[in-house]
This record gives sequence, C-alpha cells and structure tokens, in this order.
Amino acid sequence: MSKAVALFSAGLDSILAVKIAQEEGISVTTLHFLVPFIQGKALDTCEKAVKKWASFLGVDLEIAPLGQEYLEIVKTPRYGYGKNLNPCIDCKMFMLKKAKEVMQKKGASFIVTGEVVGQRPKSQNKSIFAMMDKCSGLEGKVLRPLSAKILPPTYAESEKIVNRDKLYDIYGRGRTLQIKLAKKFGIEEYPQPAGGCLLTDASFCSRVEDLLTHNELNMDNVQLLKLGRHFRFSPSFKFVVGRDEAENNQLQEFLKEDDLYFEPQDLAGPSGLGRGRVCQDVKILAAQIIAKYTSSQEEEVRIKVSTDSSQKIIKVRVISAGKLKQLII
Ligand code: SF4
Repeated sequence: MSKAVALFSAGLDSILAVKIAQEEGISVTTLHFLVPFIQGKALDTCEKAVKKWASFLGVDLEIAPLGQEYLEIVKTPRYGYGKNLNPCIDCKMFMLKKAKEVMQKKGASFIVTGEVVGQRPKSQNKSIFAMMDKCSGLEGKVLRPLSAKILPPTYAESEKIVNRDKLYDIYGRGRTLQIKLAKKFGIEEYPQPAGGCLLTDASFCSRVEDLLTHNELNMDNVQLLKLGRHFRFSPSFKFVVGRDEAENNQLQEFLKEDDLYFEPQDLAGPSGLGRGRVCQDVKILAAQIIAKYTSSQEEEVRIKVSTDSSQKIIKVRVISAGKLKQLII
C-alpha cells in the first residue's frame, strides 16, 4: 500500500484531503503542527479536535510543536508578511520541509495537503505552490486533492498511485463544494474554522512588533503575549497586567528569576509581571498602573512588589490617563 503524509489542521479541507487520499487506497499519516501563535484556549480545543478527527479517519497522527526555529522565520521571512505579521509563505514552506522529514522517516512517497487554489490569493496560488514545493525539495511530490485537476499532475498522479479523475478542481474561497464533499463522505458535523493564527490579528501584531523591535521574540515571551494588557516602559523593561483572576494566576506561572510581581495590598485588583532592567522609577510606574485598575478611591494605593527574594510595599498615586496611553502597547 502506498503511503503519504498529510498536513493536518483538522479543518474541513485537510479532513477532506485525507479522505480523498484514503479513497484512493493510500495509507495516510497525519501531521499536525502546534503553531505558537494560536490563541491559548483555541490551542487546547484544536489539539482535541485534531485527535478526534485523526481517530475518526483512522490514521496515525504526529503532533509537532513549533519552537524557536519557527520564530526565526517570523522575524525575517524571506517572502515577507501577509496583511499583518503573518509570514504565510515561509510558514508553509517550513511545514513542508518538516513534513518531508516525516515522509522519509515513514517511508512515504508523497505529501497531501488540503490547500485550495485561490483560497488565499497571496499564498495559495499556482505559482506559489510550485515555488514552495521546489524550495522545500518536494517538487512534484505535493498532492492537493481538492484542487489537483487545476494544477499540474504530481508524482502520485503520473505514477498512477492515485487516479487524477477522482480528484477535484475546487477554486477560491467558497465552501459549497467542500460541504457537498463532506456530505458525500458522511461527515455531518465538520469543524468550523477555530481560533486562528494570531499573526493575522492586527492588535496582537502590535505586541509582536514590540518584541521584534526590542529583539525579545522568544517562546516565553510569545506565550506571555496571549494574556493581559501590555506596557513598554523602556527598551529594556516590559510590564504585563492581568485582566481577570485567571490571568493573574497565569502570570504567576510565567514568573522567571529576576521578574517583579506587583499586586495591590489588602485590596482586590490585578497583578502585574515586570521583566527587564529595574530601577526605582520603573517600579513606581508599574505600581501606579496596578493602582489604576483597582477600585481604590484613596489618593494613594499600597502595592506589594515581590521578587524571588524580597517583598516591599510602596504607596503610589494612580497613573494619569495620558501617561497610561503613552505606555500601553
Ligand atoms: S495564517 Fe499563520 S499558521 Fe497559517 S500559514 Fe499563515 S502564518 Fe502560518
């Protein structure tokens, strides 16, 4: 039986692509990437969905977390960004290269993806597909069953491993044909696009931009980007404030040696995590921000500032609205 590796997001298109390959008698291993820029809660939902659909399809599943190596392409994408800081072409090429490694490990002979020509004009068109395949060392080895009939025949078709007549000619952003296909395969409840990649979100990208500017894009900081309000005091000091109890608790989990932790003393309110080069002015500014988000009516608010080895209470006035606006990212 011929083997293939399928890029698998557990979105409808990737499920259909696997199903079509299976109908052609291909043994498929699915490969799911844990992209660091998926919203935290969506990441859990997404991983559950991936496992559920892999089990539904009866396929092997490999889950590959993407780390610092992936962040390097976000810093300097060879093919540039999309509308925001989404380096889609480089990102997909990176995934194809990783898929090639899995393909070789599994003794598979080609890759399957659920990509559709014209679905994303900049990163999903015929010439980009050809370029991505070539640069990933997979020229002719990537089968896109949903759009195969409007793409040049691949190795799997030329070698009659799959029958080109059984593939599809879907083009563009519409979903009608995919929905019809889902029905044909008995897929009644298919997944809706979930969470999504935060690199396509303009307000999230202003936080990423800040990390890029200050050369601080690393996995720890990326996870921290997904929660709280973010403030930049100086090139070397960043402050994050929780928006609710859950985020306050999460911030504690992110604390590293040398970080500062701020919380109101004897008063309900948010917590804050400060990271970077500390001086007294920075501490006061951070405490003033925490004071702003408490319900205190007093002229001065008592804020506890903790480090690994010390605790200190400082009294501060609430930060002015103008100053807050200057500092928020
Ligand atoms: S949207 Fe995000 S995860 Fe998807 S291809 Fe683009 S950069 Fe990669």
